[in-house]
Order: sequence, then C-alpha cells, then structure tokens
Amino acid sequence: MPKYVYTLLKIIAIQQKLIIALMIFALGKKFEFLNSKSDDKPIDKKYHRLIVDKMPIFKKIVKFDYKILLEQYQLKHNKPLKPIKRRKESSVPKSLICPICGAPHIYIYDNNGHKGQFKCKICNTNFHEKNHFAKFVVFKCPHCGKTLEKIKERKDFFVHKCTNKKCSFYLKNLQKMDADERKIYKNDPSKFKLHYIYREFTFDFNSLDKDSLVPIPSDLSKIQVSPYTLGLILSYNINFGISARKTANLLKEIHGINISYQSILNYAKAVATNVKPIIDNYPYKLSDSICGDETYTKVLGKWKYIFFFFDTKKKIILSHYTSSSRDTKSACKALIDVISKYRELPEDFQVIVDGNPIYLLAQQFFAQHDINFNVEQVIGLTNKDKVSKKFRPLKQIIERLNRTFKENYHYTNGYNSHSGAFTSVTLFTAYFNFLRPHSSLENNVPVVIPELTDLPNMPARWGKLIELSQYFIPEKHIA
Ligand SMILES: [Zn+2]
Ligand SMILES: [Zn+2]
Repeated sequence: MPKYVYTLLKIIAIQQKLIIALMIFALGKKFEFLNSKSDDKPIDKKYHRLIVDKMPIFKKIVKFDYKILLEQYQLKHNKPLKPIKRRKESSVPKSLICPICGAPHIYIYDNNGHKGQFKCKICNTNFHEKNHFAKFVVFKCPHCGKTLEKIKERKDFFVHKCTNKKCSFYLKNLQKMDADERKIYKNDPSKFKLHYIYREFTFDFNSLDKDSLVPIPSDLSKIQVSPYTLGLILSYNINFGISARKTANLLKEIHGINISYQSILNYAKAVATNVKPIIDNYPYKLSDSICGDETYTKVLGKWKYIFFFFDTKKKIILSHYTSSSRDTKSACKALIDVISKYRELPEDFQVIVDGNPIYLLAQQFFAQHDINFNVEQVIGLTNKDKVSKKFRPLKQIIERLNRTFKENYHYTNGYNSHSGAFTSVTLFTAYFNFLRPHSSLENNVPVVIPELTDLPNMPARWGKLIELSQYFIPEKHIA
C-alpha cells in the first residue's frame, strides 16, 4: 500500500476524533447517545429518589348512621324508606357505600350516568366516587398522631404532609444530617425529605379493571385448518417459540401442510382473544404468596412493560398486564388482575416484588379501599437484609419465568402491533398455566384440567383447550 494512503487514514482518524470532540463541546451531554446503543433496555433503574413512608393512621369520620336514619324515617312517615327501584341493571358498584351515613349501594343513585357522581337516598348527600374516601377519612401521622395537611394536588394523587415541627419522624431525620447537609437544607429545604409524607391516590378503583387494550374475540370459525393442525401450529409457535415464518416452513416441509405465515399470525390472535376469558376467570386454587416482576418488550418501536405476577407455590400466572409505563397505576392494574382471581384474599397475603416504590404506593392505594396485604421487597443483587435473603429464591422464580418468556420470543425484534404483543403474552400464559409441565410440581401442569390430562400429545391438548374456552362460562365472583 502506498505511503500516502497511511497518511490519509491517519488524517481521517484525527479528523474523526476532532469532530467527536467538537460535537461534545457543542451539544454537551446530549451527545452521549452516540456512545450508547440506541436500543438500551429500560432496566436497572435506581429507586432511591422516591421514598415511601409507612402507612398513615386512617381515622373514619362517620357523621350519621344510615340504620338510625332509616328508623327515624319509619317513625316520621309510618312506612319504611325503600331501596331504589331500578329498571336496568345498576351502574352503582356493589362495593360503594355512602361516605356520610354508610348506606349500602341499594340506596345510592347514579347521579350523572356512569360518570362517578352519586347521591344517597337516605342522607341526601352528593358525592364523587373519586374522592369519596377523603370525605370520610382523615389521615393522621403514624409518628406523632397529628392530622396531615394536604400540600399538593397531582393528576393521580394528593400529597399529605405532617408539618408538626415536634414530630419524632422529622426530628430523627433532622438529627441524622451532618453539618454540610444542614447548611444546604437551610438554603433549599426542598432538597431533603424530612417530614412524613403520604400520597392519597385518587384514581378510580372501579375503572382500573377495564383493560381497553384487549381486542374483542375473533371468530374462530374463520380458521380453515383442523383443530389438530391448529394445535400443531400453536405447539411450534408458542411452546417451542418458533417464529410464525419458520412454523409455516416447518408445516410445509415436514408435514406437507400449506399455510401462509400471515394466516398463522391471524390464527394465533384469534385463539388468544378466545382463551383470554378462561385465563382471567378460571376458578384457580391459589396460595397466599404471589410474586411479581416487570419485563419489557418493544411494540411499534417503543418499550412496553409486562407486569407478570404469579403464584409462587402453584406456579400460576395471575397477571400479564402490559403497559407503556412503569408507574403506580400500572402496578395497581396488575394487582387488580391478581386480586380479582381470589374469592377472598388470604389473611397473610404477601406480594413479593423488587425495590420499585410503585408497589408500596399500590399497597397504600389498596389499603384506602380496605384491601390489605403485605409487600416484601427484594432489593439489589446481594442479600443485604433479612427480607431479601428470605424472599430472594421466590424472586428468582419469577425472574426465571421472565427468562422463559423471553426465550420463547427471542426471535421477535419487538412487535409490529399491539395485538401482536397481546397475542404472545396471552398465549404464553395459557401455555404456562394449563399445558406446560413444571418440574417443581412433579412434572404436572400448574392447573390440571381433567379433560386435557389423558390426551396423547400437545396439539390435541391445545385443540381441547380452545374448545373448552369456547364453552367457558365464568362464575361471577362476589364483588
Ligand atoms: Zn348517606
Ligand atoms: Zn408527624
């Protein structure tokens, strides 16, 4: 190679460095993206920014007692006050009670047609579902007992603060600070969190269980292959995680069945929408310990979080809620998926999760609605504290579940549609709960459906599961 080529290459190399240096100078830190991969995964978030304090003391203020008001009505009018007669099925949630007199839902009018405003027939109070909790409860600091002050109103929550300067919680935090920190605190108190804080979530409990992303069930009669072939397709595509394109090839070259890969995608989606009700409403026998973790996948180029929750003992997936954000509302939605599968929550119900504070906030949200459970957080990579040591093995189980899910879909470089992601996650759950033998369950499947056990192979079991889900009528749980 002639010498001038070396010289040229050297010049180019120097120029490149110069350009990078100039760009860093001009664009500052924003330029960092050039050095990192553009598809950096949304993991390893540090959580210490948001500190979640323990629960406040809820003090209920019941101004009237509806039973006494009913008696007074009877005395005055010489006839009882009857519950509301409704022509249609009631839009008033059965769990709703009047915040002022405690009257049950049969005495509550829907005041503005499903928009969350109600009126009590007994005490005539108008109230809104969204903030009825605050109306009949005051929050008290768990450290000093003083009533908290509402200091901020955000979209989904109000912030209540203990402003008592003699509060033991505040004094203890103040003592912990060193001289430098105290100096900074004097100039800018907002840099530190010393007072007790409680976030009261205001999003509507009843709207949480409505998942608008779930497509309506597709018509299975449009599927033009036999139930066995359909089962074969799903076995390859879901159980073995073989892409739709390769499954189409396999069917053609091994089984001599001609079917386009687009048809395979359509069939998978149709099956997913049809098995969703059986996954959601099957009368599972569950334990008192569940574990949750978020994994992520790309949909239309954007990261989506899948909130997998599963029973640590029975190995049953109870939620696969998919959301574009890893926030408290999403955690609540995933937990609603879980809780709705119980007829009654076990007394020592425990939820094992990572260090993300959204789960503590979700716990507080549910406590506002009288649903109580323990949250155990497994933090960091080492067993620093007792809780982590005890629950780490359980956390590892769900990490393994996430890996199984990812291994199955390693061929996808993300999904091209929301329904694609929905299909994958739903069919994976169906497979995991009803079809996949689990080593720790003596190679039994987590949920044994008697009709499936004696079938000779996986395609036959898929076929039967699809058939059963068409006739599946959910038993309504008590609200
Ligand atoms: Zn009332
Ligand atoms: Zn206090």
